Amino acid sequence: MARPTQAQLNLAALRHNVRLVRERAPAAKLMAVVKADAYGHGAVTISNALSNLVDALAVACMEEAIELRDAGIDTPILLLEGVFDEGELPLAAARKLWITVENRQQLQWLERTSLSNPIQCWLKVDTGMNRLGVPRDAWRDYYERLCELPQANGRPVLFTHLSSADNINSDATERQLSRFLSLDCDGPRSICNSAGVIAWPQAHFDWVRPGYMLYGYSPMRNATDVCRQLRPVMSLTSSIISVREVEAGESVGYDGLWVAPRHSRIATVAVGYGDGYPRHAPTGTPVLIEGQLAPLVGRVSMDMITVDITELSHVDMGSPVTLWGEGLRLEDIARRAGTIGYELTSRIPSRTPRVISAD
Ligand SMILES: *Cc1c(COP(=O)(O)O)cnc(C)c1O
Repeated sequence: MARPTQAQLNLAALRHNVRLVRERAPAAKLMAVVKADAYGHGAVTISNALSNLVDALAVACMEEAIELRDAGIDTPILLLEGVFDEGELPLAAARKLWITVENRQQLQWLERTSLSNPIQCWLKVDTGMNRLGVPRDAWRDYYERLCELPQANGRPVLFTHLSSADNINSDATERQLSRFLSLDCDGPRSICNSAGVIAWPQAHFDWVRPGYMLYGYSPMRNATDVCRQLRPVMSLTSSIISVREVEAGESVGYDGLWVAPRHSRIATVAVGYGDGYPRHAPTGTPVLIEGQLAPLVGRVSMDMITVDITELSHVDMGSPVTLWGEGLRLEDIARRAGTIGYELTSRIPSRTPRVISAD
């Protein structure tokens, strides 16, 4: 039998989450963000499942877009950071990709390149993230030049990105929103990532751009009703491959980090940081075994973890284990490990097979 570790993908959950976004933002078009291999879920699998349900896809770079086009996906695809050099423009035109224009150089490249067909542009303006985007006082110059340009396909979509939409107590979003509205643009506009979709309905405008929530996880600091209705697409699962009794005072694993306070029953599970389980998950991080929670104990190894199953019943060699997903929230595991769920799923390596689950 093969090593039991898998990232199971539930595409019914994905479709359910798309419906939640549609209900939440009924008037907006939906651009599904599938960058970074669809946050580690597998870009081709996820995009194939989404292609008839969404209005466009978004990726971070040309290579990610080409992977989808080569897989036969013909949904519009936006390059969120635009092109990284002039030579990518003919390719973007040929593969019918949409591009972001977010700085002067990208505009100049477009202006001096002749293309087989015009490219749909998204003009990104900086409203306070201070990472990408043209300055607010220059937006109209960019906008008008793009409108005139034969290489650009009509009016650009004006967009910006929120720095703090996950925190409803921060006033940063109001500030970004009022700056964006002051631009007085009558063309199509877009602001919201997942947290914006959930918490900032007044910012939905013409396009929403969720990623994380489509995969079923809550981006909010404090979960809302919508967050609780999301269903996780990925469950990272494995099983128990060894069980032993250890005496009180015996240590378990590398560095002898955990010492049994009592006679304990310890299960070894075939998952480790080499499968994307975070090495920084501390003792006490919950693991789900046969519907029961048990604490991780000691160091996370590359291929294994150890779990205290002293309190569990009907658990033995071969018992299935869920590390996160159905029944155990990714965000809780991420918080324990001092990170966010985005990082955990996007760091699952290729050795962990993605398996589409029966539902
Ligand atoms: C990644 C990204 C998103 C999606 O963010 P989520 O928090 O995953 O919903 C939206 N817009 C831009 C510009 C992004 O880079």
